[in-house]
Amino acid sequence: MSAFSTLPLTKSMIDNLGTMGYHKMTPVQAGSLPHVLKGEDLLAQAKTGSGKTAAFGIGLLHNLNVKRFRVQALVMCPTRELAEQVAGELRRIARFKHNIKIVTICGGVPFLPQQISLEHQAHIVVGTPGRIEQHLSRGTMNLDNVTTLVLDEADRMLDVGFADSIEAIMGYVPKHRQTLLFSATFPEQILGLSTRFQKNAHRVVVDVEHEENVIRQHFYESDWEAKDDLVVRILERHKPASTLIFCNTKLQCKSLTTSLWTKGFSAISIHGDLEQKERTEVLVRFSNGSCPILIATDVAARGLDITGLSAVINFDLPFEPEVYVHRIGRTGRAGKEGMAFSLMTPKERFRMEEINTIMGTSFEVSDVEALEPSIEEDAVVPMVTLSINGGRKSKLRPGDILGALTKDGGLAGTSVGKINCFDYYSYVAIERSVADKAEKALSTKKIKGRHFIIHRHE
Ligand code: AMP
Repeated sequence: MSAFSTLPLTKSMIDNLGTMGYHKMTPVQAGSLPHVLKGEDLLAQAKTGSGKTAAFGIGLLHNLNVKRFRVQALVMCPTRELAEQVAGELRRIARFKHNIKIVTICGGVPFLPQQISLEHQAHIVVGTPGRIEQHLSRGTMNLDNVTTLVLDEADRMLDVGFADSIEAIMGYVPKHRQTLLFSATFPEQILGLSTRFQKNAHRVVVDVEHEENVIRQHFYESDWEAKDDLVVRILERHKPASTLIFCNTKLQCKSLTTSLWTKGFSAISIHGDLEQKERTEVLVRFSNGSCPILIATDVAARGLDITGLSAVINFDLPFEPEVYVHRIGRTGRAGKEGMAFSLMTPKERFRMEEINTIMGTSFEVSDVEALEPSIEEDAVVPMVTLSINGGRKSKLRPGDILGALTKDGGLAGTSVGKINCFDYYSYVAIERSVADKAEKALSTKKIKGRHFIIHRHE
């Protein structure tokens, strides 16, 4: 893999990528960026976890004219969660330059605050097609200055029914523009989109087979009643730092979560019954390292940009073999080995055969007895999440929270983990050993001249 320094990027951009731990390009970045930087159109095959966000994000930000305070890039995503993740990654990449404004425009949240944000102008809009179309038809968003348009996870946007909105949005952006289309699969409709809305698009196809080789996959047979214990054996054997467990029903998610809790594991679940705020909280805690096990249904996990996990466990094998491929794609990334474990009752063995057929593999049932507990010491969950009842709307930024903890609270910067600021809430991960001190600092001292209410999530 080649280094970012081989690209015609500014030193400040490359230095910032270095601080994010990005030194070498992932295959999709190496295939895409040279074209993206030249302003050419692109049709790229990329799934979550491949580094696709940076593959277009670095290009967008490199080409952006900060002094021109108009929307210059529009990124469309299939879900609000993905849009938030993409905006987050773009903001991190954008740190190399001051004053780049990125707004998210998604459905499911009030319209007016978005309208006000747009009135104050932005350089980049990231959002879901339905709400973007609404703003355009009401005249509350102007895309006359867009130079780059990105369709992210285009196949999923079509799956969830955004074809008409995308079509409508195309009528509002200038004809002379760069169009970047990213999709995990290339069905006919995607090729149709490309033909209609792109010019001489370069195709980038990554070596999917090679990527899949870095996932160690095991299938275990078990009676239904013994599955919970088998999950425990897998966790005790491999001690993965982060694990996503898939169940086929939300009832099963809830019962497995309780069962793991009683056995001493810190697990949380995400399912359709959660409110948006609870969902966000669960995701933040999982992705900032303060809860190592997330249990989800496919529906609840759809659109979640959770990748690079140590392990994926299929508590139930999915009904469709393609779903298996999608699930395990969340482990292993950019050369790091991943692990996937699948549990099945003897009657479900045919599902493993179906998987073998579509993947061209020859997996067999592994021996449960080989799952001896590891002698490695149990890792204590390293982080704790504190929530703050203020966010972007109270002008709180990650830097303010970091400042309150380090300058006012006396904590070392190294004990502060990921900070996520949403509109009305913020979350900060703190090293467990200093969590009390951090909680006290944030609840007793003012941040940006105000007192906030702090909650600790265990
Ligand atoms: P994405 O496919 O955009 O969702 O990215 C997947 C993950 O890979 C994200 O957590 C990124 O932070 C990370 N990532 C992207 N590019 C690189 C890179 N060149 N080196 C290391 N990590 C990367």
